[in-house]
Amino acid sequence: ENWPEIKGDITFKNVSFSYNPEEPILENFNIEVKAGETIALVGETGSGKSTIVNIACRFYEATSGEILIDGVNYKERSQLWLHSNLGYVLQSPHLFSGTIKDNIRYGRLDAREMDIIRAAKLVNAHDFIMKLEKGYDTEVGEGGGLLSSGEKQLISFARAVLANPRIFVLDEATSSIDTETEQMIQKAINKVLKGRTSFIIAHRLSTIRSADRILVIRKGKLIEAGNHHQL
Ligand code: ATP
Ligand code: MG
Repeated sequence: ENWPEIKGDITFKNVSFSYNPEEPILENFNIEVKAGETIALVGETGSGKSTIVNIACRFYEATSGEILIDGVNYKERSQLWLHSNLGYVLQSPHLFSGTIKDNIRYGRLDAREMDIIRAAKLVNAHDFIMKLEKGYDTEVGEGGGLLSSGEKQLISFARAVLANPRIFVLDEATSSIDTETEQMIQKAINKVLKGRTSFIIAHRLSTIRSADRILVIRKGKLIEAGNHHQL
């Protein structure tokens, strides 16, 4: 479907959230991200970074407050609209049993083979895929179990760029990723995020350095913001 092009501003306005009522995770969380800006979220484990991006993707509903995209509450849009405009690579990406090609194509039945390969090349996944015995037709196993976590992130990354979203969310895997895959992900980030609004949960200094703004999260609160020179 052809949606009218969005700009890609995203705002969290007084967003509160908890997984269970006794334990608030976010309380009146506010951020305003301008179209094209790259935001890095940093903070210790359990501080709420993944929760923030999962709310941005609307996998969790805020208990109160609003998330605005180009000034409009995203609840007024469909999930299909949201996920055409906002692409995501989650910390533990979900792959389904099927081939690599199917996993990159996902719901986009109109995607041609060349589009799939282009997306994989853009995120530097093409080379590792071609090293597999059956290339793009390799079965990934239940939940992608036959791939490493870094490889799963790359496949998920390719899936996200195939949709060409204006807003991009990337929750970098923390689990051991070999240096080579890590470098591939890093290069992919630099290429893909250019010109898009993006949230990156970054663990590597190189990713953090290239962000326009770094937000330091502690216990669900924004405690500092600035670029890496300011912090
Ligand atoms: P990490 O750097 O380890 O990925 P994070 O900053 O992404 O951490 P979150 O995953 O957002 O942290 O978790 C924030 C808090 O919410 C933590 O206390 C965590 O234990 C809790 N939490 C996260 N997911 C759930 C869930 N599905 N159910 C209940 N509590 C959760
Ligand atoms: Mg996390």
